[in-house]
Amino acid sequence: MNMNTNSKEPITPLSTKEGQGSGSAYFNPEIETMTREQIEALQLERLQATVRAEAGITPDDIKTLADVRKLPFTTKQDLRETYPFGMSCVPMKDCVRLHSSSGTTGNPTVILHTKNDLDEWANQVARNLWMVGLRPDDVFQNSSGYGMFTGGLGFQYGAEKLGMLTVPAAAGNSLRQIKFIKDFGTTAIHAVPSYVTRLYEVMKEEGVDPRCDTKLKVLAIGAEPHSEEQRKRIEEMMGVKAYNSFGMSEMCGPGVGFECPEQNGMHFWEDYYIVEIVNPETLEPVPDGEIGELILTTLCREAMPLLRYRTRDLTRVLGRTCPCGRNHVRIDRMKGRSDDMMVLRGVNIFPIQIEKILMQFSELASNYLITLTTDEENDNMTVEVELDRPTDDYKQLQALEKEIRRRLKDEILLTPIVKLVSKGSLPVSEGKAVRVVDKRKVYQ
Ligand code: ADP
Ligand code: ZN
Repeated sequence: MNMNTNSKEPITPLSTKEGQGSGSAYFNPEIETMTREQIEALQLERLQATVRAEAGITPDDIKTLADVRKLPFTTKQDLRETYPFGMSCVPMKDCVRLHSSSGTTGNPTVILHTKNDLDEWANQVARNLWMVGLRPDDVFQNSSGYGMFTGGLGFQYGAEKLGMLTVPAAAGNSLRQIKFIKDFGTTAIHAVPSYVTRLYEVMKEEGVDPRCDTKLKVLAIGAEPHSEEQRKRIEEMMGVKAYNSFGMSEMCGPGVGFECPEQNGMHFWEDYYIVEIVNPETLEPVPDGEIGELILTTLCREAMPLLRYRTRDLTRVLGRTCPCGRNHVRIDRMKGRSDDMMVLRGVNIFPIQIEKILMQFSELASNYLITLTTDEENDNMTVEVELDRPTDDYKQLQALEKEIRRRLKDEILLTPIVKLVSKGSLPVSEGKAVRVVDKRKVYQ
């Protein structure tokens, strides 16, 4: 639904003491170290400011934070139906940018931003980068797509806000990326995880050892689902910590949630969002620890506030305190989107479950592709995965295939066809990796 902000009372500016001295562990200590009570009081105040009379709900109906549940959900479909500017809450002259997501079916979605929205977005990203130890003397290379994809400009503005020297390298052209990393003394990279593994392969081919030949110290990886096993691999390859970053265009983009040095889930910033996890069928809240659909309500957006947005991402709450001193809710890595789920012979499977198993085999490289086909009446799954090293030991390959099949069966309860292919033979995309190709016949 379309919610208007009260134009007479602008939302409380957030940026109190952003950008502390390099000695502080926090970018905005006052906000980051709030107690639960303080967080909730701030959220209630901001929710009331965001909601205006609509669908029988007035700010007076929002007396406690739990009253958020009285509000209707917003869906991607709502954004499509109001394409392009129907969800805007401010005059167009106050908007300074839009981002749009691909829209494979029907209209794409459009997200509008005011100048203030962009400033707050940059604050969120800067806060995250600061949290993992980056400071103004760092060199930040953004190796993600620019343009409509929010990972480009989102990280760009955030890294600049923090005060780092930024290298807007964009995605692809790995040789040039590696040259920049070496020549500019890059200390931090942001990229989608599947691209980091590609970058590492090229480094290896070029005889560049990231541990000795670069100044890298931090990676920010996100925008696509990846397993803990994939993250560990990336950390081992590159010799640095890789922090999970969550974002989506509808919520600005990157910056919504990010791991702290504890790497025990992503802190979702509750001064900017109300986080709910609900059962995707009943839409009722689920207890902490239980997996459900992530629902986000924006608290500081001017151009396009969204109430109870159904992200379709499946995850769970891990906790609400953390040894790092931040009490903003900790959210588990995404299990996938509800629409990523494959249903094969009645079994529900997420690509990430397959990745988790594959990444445990040191004989395998990181790229894989799942293809679903219909053979006569049966649906089948083929998992193609690249070998890390070439080998012509047929017996050994057969044994390896068999073991992968067995382990996959334990995880997904079906035995897929496993094909070991040579490195570099599967497609690589510059943006988010395409992990599943569904060629099944659809029976009506
Ligand atoms: P699109 O919807 O076209 O992919 P977005 O860039 O807005 O455009 O994608 C947001 C989505 O990307 C999220 O809803 C989520 O499914 C996925 N995503 C973003 N960050 C992560 C992450 N760290 N882990 C898993 N999935 C992520
Ligand atoms: Zn923490």
